[in-house]
Amino acid sequence: MNEKSINISDVINLPLDTKEQKKAVDSKTPCVVDGRLKVYNPDEDNVKRLLELLKNKLSRQVVGSMVGCVHCGMCSDACHYALVRPYDPTMTPAYKADQIRHIFKRHFDWTGRLVPWWVHAGTPKDDEDLKRLKNIVFGTCTGCRRCTLNCPMGVDTAILVRLTRGLLTELGIVPEGVFVVSKDSWETGNQMGVTQEDYLETIQWMEEETQAELDDPHFKIPMDKEDCDFMYTINPREVKYDPRSIGNAGKIFYCAGESWTMPSWGWDQTNFGLFSGDDKLGGYIAKNLYEAAKRLRAKRIVISECGHGYRSTRWEGYNWAKYKQDLPSESVVVTLIRYINQGRIKVDPSRNPLPVTYHDSCNIARSGDLTEEPRWILKRVCADFREMYPNRSDNFCCTGGGGALSMVEYKPLRMEVARIKAEQLTATGAKIVCTSCHNCVDGLTDVIKHYKLDIKVAQILDLVADALIIPKKNEKK
Ligand code: SF4
Ligand code: SF4
Repeated sequence: MNEKSINISDVINLPLDTKEQKKAVDSKTPCVVDGRLKVYNPDEDNVKRLLELLKNKLSRQVVGSMVGCVHCGMCSDACHYALVRPYDPTMTPAYKADQIRHIFKRHFDWTGRLVPWWVHAGTPKDDEDLKRLKNIVFGTCTGCRRCTLNCPMGVDTAILVRLTRGLLTELGIVPEGVFVVSKDSWETGNQMGVTQEDYLETIQWMEEETQAELDDPHFKIPMDKEDCDFMYTINPREVKYDPRSIGNAGKIFYCAGESWTMPSWGWDQTNFGLFSGDDKLGGYIAKNLYEAAKRLRAKRIVISECGHGYRSTRWEGYNWAKYKQDLPSESVVVTLIRYINQGRIKVDPSRNPLPVTYHDSCNIARSGDLTEEPRWILKRVCADFREMYPNRSDNFCCTGGGGALSMVEYKPLRMEVARIKAEQLTATGAKIVCTSCHNCVDGLTDVIKHYKLDIKVAQILDLVADALIIPKKNEKK
């Protein structure tokens, strides 16, 4: 699995591509016209603007991570970039965070004012420096937070990376993919630009497929039904690339006799604002979802399998949207455990005979603390479950975190550092790697293709659906 090392200066000096920004300006895209989404303006004093924006972002959490680093280097042992490229100091988490830390120290910390040379305080000279900063924070970190767990000082490098991404997003200095996904999110309310028509048609299609599978023409995917036990929210990837996961969820909820609904608007539980650092976008998407649940008077929000969606919807979104949290939410994995525990569904593990391992999504395990629940289910729906090492909150990123899948220009580096994930997968001897995240499905698929591994990717919901014993008509309650 030895990869040829790529030249890091080719990555760090990638130019800013503004073709998509120009197209959006020319076509008068509303979010660009009204300023919700910024485009790069070379005539502006972007360095000055960055400093003004940074001043307004200095929370206690941010400042703690700015001043806490003692440069001990322990985080380097945690980062997949640094582990695969141990000779390259620019891959260490401390180096990545230092790019914004130096600016902070020069302008907002007494050490940088008194002894700038001692603490390496500095200011970007011009837009070229900002573009270089863009390539470091977007191109060399997947925001996985593995380094955070390894830091004895409690420094959260991913928070600083996200903060810097947010500042650059406000200046339009972003990778093309980040601009496009942000635009789609603002314009359509979901990050894949799925139209309302496509969403509703896909739901209808899955309803018909599931009716046939269940041999029950009365099966429904209830849309906008009020006063249900929960509102089910999904990842737009399910509509665009994997609609069977919607049908599978419906099939399981049907067998469990659940009272549930899906909203016609506010259905995207993912949130690109987490990746781009754009709190306004994050708040907009999250609020759409919370308002939908309120409108439908749902008792709970159930989040389909997505790591960053789970983190955004359950915790971060309320802060971005400044929204009062008064509705419980849970991952669908927790819902499935309840069904199995209460005997509401029956499963047969012999229907999943191939060896299965589990990949912990960073946002589900490390940032979400859901580590035992997926395993509890997999041990009941698969005949041969095998651990991957390291695992749980110590697991390595699928390499597709932090919105990396949308930034194609950084893929060669991403695939080089994916060697760690490929080796982890191979060592299990599993034929299926299960994960509880649609983003990880794509990240792992890239790794598997690149390293030519004989392994397939599945999600917990799919394996439960495969193991599900559908009661005969006269057995239904
Ligand atoms: S482990 Fe923490 S203190 Fe040590 S270099 Fe990394 S971020 Fe800094
Ligand atoms: S968050 Fe993950 S990818 Fe980013 S520096 Fe830390 S360990 Fe590396």
